[in-house]
Formats: sequence, structure tokens, C-alpha cells
Amino acid sequence: MAAPSMGGVSLPRGNGQTVRLPRGASLTDLAERINAEPAALVTALFHLGEMITATQSVNDETLQLLGAEIGWVIQVVSPEDEDRELLDTFDLTFGDAESDDEDDWDIRPPVVTVMGHVDHGKTKLLDALRHANVAGKEAGGITQHIGAYQIVTELEGNERPVTFIDTPGHESFTAMRARGAKVTDIVVLVVAADDGVMPQTVEALNHAQAAEVPIVVAVNKIDKEGANPAKIRQQLTEYGLVAEEYGGDTMFVDVSATTRQGLDDLLAAILLTADASLDLRANVGQDPQGVVIEGKLDKGRGPVATVLVQRGTLRQGDSIVAGDAYGRVRSLLDEHGNKLKEALPARPVQVVGLTSVPRAGDTFLVVEEDRIARQIADRRQARIRNAQNASMRKRISLEDLDAALKETRQLNLIIKGDNSGTVEALEEALMKIEVSDDISLRVIHRGVGGITKSDIDLALADDVIVLGFNVRAEGQATELAAREGVDVRYYTVIYQAIEEIESALKGMLKPEYEEVQLGTAEVREVFRVPKIGNVAGSLVRSGTIVRNSKARLVRDGAVVADNLTVESLRRFKDDATEVREGYECGIGLGSFNDIKIDDVIQTFELREKPRS
Ligand code: GDP
Repeated sequence: MAAPSMGGVSLPRGNGQTVRLPRGASLTDLAERINAEPAALVTALFHLGEMITATQSVNDETLQLLGAEIGWVIQVVSPEDEDRELLDTFDLTFGDAESDDEDDWDIRPPVVTVMGHVDHGKTKLLDALRHANVAGKEAGGITQHIGAYQIVTELEGNERPVTFIDTPGHESFTAMRARGAKVTDIVVLVVAADDGVMPQTVEALNHAQAAEVPIVVAVNKIDKEGANPAKIRQQLTEYGLVAEEYGGDTMFVDVSATTRQGLDDLLAAILLTADASLDLRANVGQDPQGVVIEGKLDKGRGPVATVLVQRGTLRQGDSIVAGDAYGRVRSLLDEHGNKLKEALPARPVQVVGLTSVPRAGDTFLVVEEDRIARQIADRRQARIRNAQNASMRKRISLEDLDAALKETRQLNLIIKGDNSGTVEALEEALMKIEVSDDISLRVIHRGVGGITKSDIDLALADDVIVLGFNVRAEGQATELAAREGVDVRYYTVIYQAIEEIESALKGMLKPEYEEVQLGTAEVREVFRVPKIGNVAGSLVRSGTIVRNSKARLVRDGAVVADNLTVESLRRFKDDATEVREGYECGIGLGSFNDIKIDDVIQTFELREKPRS
């Protein structure tokens, strides 16, 4: 069959062959693979009702639709597949290697997340548990918040470690899970005995059950007057959590974070639940892998990430990739600031030595050489960028084409901040700003760290504002931004950033006009003036009639003609620029001649409306 010609550019037809494209590929990428002209693909897609330029990312469905149209099967490779393939090429896999005999694996400590309703004592309980550490007493040093900590407790004569994630609440739990990271083995559900089951108690419980994570209930604040631990047990049966003493299989422990009563029992319950329902093991001999719990930029030490080792043993000097960050482990620190030589499974450690800051929920793995780490990180970075571009691009239908051509305006932002949490929070808050349908906000790049030269390079396209949250522009970036006039703004509070961006967006709105009445005149007589047409001999009733102002003609209360202009204005024989109330004048409305006695001419002007 002959190549179909679309818009004058020929398009080679496939006959059902498969092309593989990464998610977020552009028409140019596709054109390269199938040896076609990008322009022909743009046209073909246009005929399918989508207007997309050659270099824009195209979403999965559209790629497949286009493929079907031109005779190719397009296989969009997901980021996860790509990651797997990427690791494959380096002979690496993520996750547990199956060839190992699990029986040889070592028992590993459980990883616990504390959840529950606000003010029920999650934070205080985590603090109290931190000090319940039998090993902690000799470890010394001030405990720092690094996102997770491990304590050692005694159970049946054995010293058993337990790891706690130090960010209470189900939001971070769920955010991690959404990113594919399964970190938590056991959830401690905190319920205040003087309060009872509350909305967030139920939410937390639902999240834990959805993740199929066993729950231990800590009935807190039993020191308080009016505490009623039995009521909590009873309330929770309605949600499928039946206490052991009532014949169920959930352990309930009465505690007080304030008096530290019951903490040992709680730790025992956690370990017993782990032993009974989970067989937590890990192979300490495997290549180390795990999850990033928290990432931040430290003023002195640079990017610092708290990671949780999930298998293998992480050692100082290892080459590591975490999300799209990489580097050599310069030092490993525990929550007391002590340097460690190695970290075993379920051990949270701070890793110093990465080149950038990974995000919470990113997985990390150790590779043989720095070079490989760098390559994996680079490819992940490119992929993340592509995927972001694709997901942000709005599909434009033919109906919208008109509007699209009228050009919806977009404010592009680059967000840099001192840690991944604030960057994400700021982005989320900014994306909620709505000013108008035809103006959109787009974050083209975000990251942790100071504003670099490459950020400014990226911003050199038009309408990009660079936001620095608790960070500044570094070295060359400052000069370049100043020289090229890039708008860089610094913030230390989120709401201020929101306010300023909102007003920047408003500034981009097309001006809105409002009508301001100038004057009205009543037609007393109609004169025919040769070559000019009808002129209204009028009496100005209110305000002022101004030459060249906008006018409309009203007859018996109805508008006869709109969009007129006062083209000529005369007082007797002389031209006038304006005629005031109470005076007579001759008004010519250009080619509009349908003027009758008693008509009213209203004049007005359009003034730009200030935005609220
Ligand atoms: P979160 O919002 O769940 O993290 O709750 P917090 O840990 O911030 O605790 C909320 C309030 O309850 C604080 O004023 C704590 O001092 C108090 N609190 C927490 N646990 C106990 C407890 O066991 N007994 C008493 N009396 N007060 C507690």
C-alpha cells in the first residue's frame, strides 16, 4: 500500500511491528524509531484530534492511538519496567533474590510506624520509647531526629532491636507506600484512653489494614483522670480489632507516654506480634538495598539521606544509587551521631556522600563502581523528567483548539528548597492556586539544594520564576541570573511564596474592563447632513458627551444599537471635544443613521478594572 500522505509529508506505514518507547516520549522520538518525519506525525495526530508539537511529551494512550493509525504497535515502557531493564543491563535486580535459601537468612528487627489521631500522644510516645533503650544508655550522645531510630529491648532474656519510623501519622506511611516502598512491618495505633476512637484513628487503621500490616494498639494516657481503656477495646471491635483478652488476635497495651508506664509491655507486644504473624528475615550477605526515609541538605555536610537497610549490609565506602541521587558513602551515622562501619537490615542510618538529595520513598542500592551508580542515576533522572513532562501536559482536543490557539498562558516555576518535604509541600500548595482557567502554573523542575547555574539555564526560557525556599543561589548562578534578568525569589515561609505567586499569576491575566458611564443626551431633532448622514440634535441630560467615546442608542428603554462611536460632536457650527450637561449639541454616530426624536444616546468608556 502506498504511503498515506498527510499534509504533504509522507508517512511510512508500519505493518504491525512493535516499537518500544519510554513513557513521556515525544513525536520526534517516535519519528526517529520508525524513520518518519516528525512533522508527518504531528499532522497525523492532528487529524486524530490532538494538537501536540514534535518535541512535547505524548501520553501513553495517545501514542498507542497514533500507532494504531499508522500501523505500528507502540509499547510504552513504564518507569518500573525501565528501571528493571536498566538494572538488568548492569546485572542487578531490586528486591529479594530468589535463589537464596530463606532458612539461612537472619532474623531482622521489625520496623514500626506509629499512627493515630492528632493529640493522642504519638510524638510523646515516640520520645518516651527512644529513652526506653537498654543499649541507648551506654551509647550516649544526644539523640537526633534523623527520621528513624532503633532501640534494643529485652524479651525473654534476649536483647532484641526494634526500629521506629520517627515521622508519626499515616500520611508519610501512605506516601511511601504510594511510591512502592514497603517499609513498615507493624503499625502501633495510638488511641488516647480519655478520648476514644476518632476520625484519624479510623483512617490510620484503614491504611494499615489496606497495607496488610499487623496492628498493635497502644491505649495511651492511662494516667489521666477519666481514662477508660476498656471502652477503647470495645470501640475498636467494631473495626475488626478484637483484643486478645476478648478472644481476638490483636494485642492491646495500656501505656502512658508521660509516666512511661507500660512501655516495656508495648515493646514486648510489638516483638511478639512480629514473631507470631511475620517471619522477618533478611540476608545480610546480599548486595545491600533499602529505602530512603528522609532526605535533606545539610549546611555543612551537603546532601544527607536517612536510609533504612532492608537487605544486605551497607558499608562505608559503598557506591550507592538512591532514586536519582548517587555517590560514595563517606560516612554512616546512627541517631546518636555515632559513626558506624556498617548497617545491618532494619538499621536506619544517615548516609553522607551523595551528590544530591533523594526523596523519601526512593529505593537505594549498592553497585560495584561509582561509574555505574552515576549512569543509573543519570538515566533515572532523564526518565523522571520525561514522565513529569508527560503527566503535566494537558491533552488538547479539537474543540479546545481554538482556545489553545488563543494561547493559554502558563507560569513556569523552578522550586529549590532545603529538604524534600518542604519542596513537595510548597509545590502542592502552589498547584492549588487557581486564578483563571486560561492561566496555568507548571513546575518544570524541583529539587533539594541551592539554586545552581543549571537551574538558571533552565529558567532562561520565558516566564520562569525560580523559587528558593531556605536556600540561595550559588556562585555563578547569582551572576547569571542577574545578567539574564531571571526572576529569582527567596522565601522562608510558605504562605509568602503562595501570596507572591498568586499575584504574579494575577498579573498575567488579561486585563478586565468595566464600563464607566460618561453622559447621556436626549435627541430633540434629526438633521440630514449631506455626505455625513443623520446627525442628532441633542440636549445633554447628564454627565458629559465626549468626542470619540463609545456610545449606544436607546429607544423606549431598549437598546437599538450598541458599539457606536461619537464620531462628530458640534456646538452650533463649531467642533467640540466635549459638551456638558444642560447644553445642546449635534452628535454624529458615523455611518449609523437610524436616529429618531426622543432616542437617548448613552456614552461610556471602558476602564481597566483593578483586580481584587
Ligand atoms: P500527637 O499529635 O499524637 O503526636 O500527640 P502529642 O504527642 O503531641 O501529645 C499531645 C498532648 O498529649 C501533649 O500535650 C502531650 O504532653 C499529651 N500526652 C501525650 N501522651 C500522654 C500521656 O500518656 N499522658 C498524659 N497525661 N498526657 C499525654
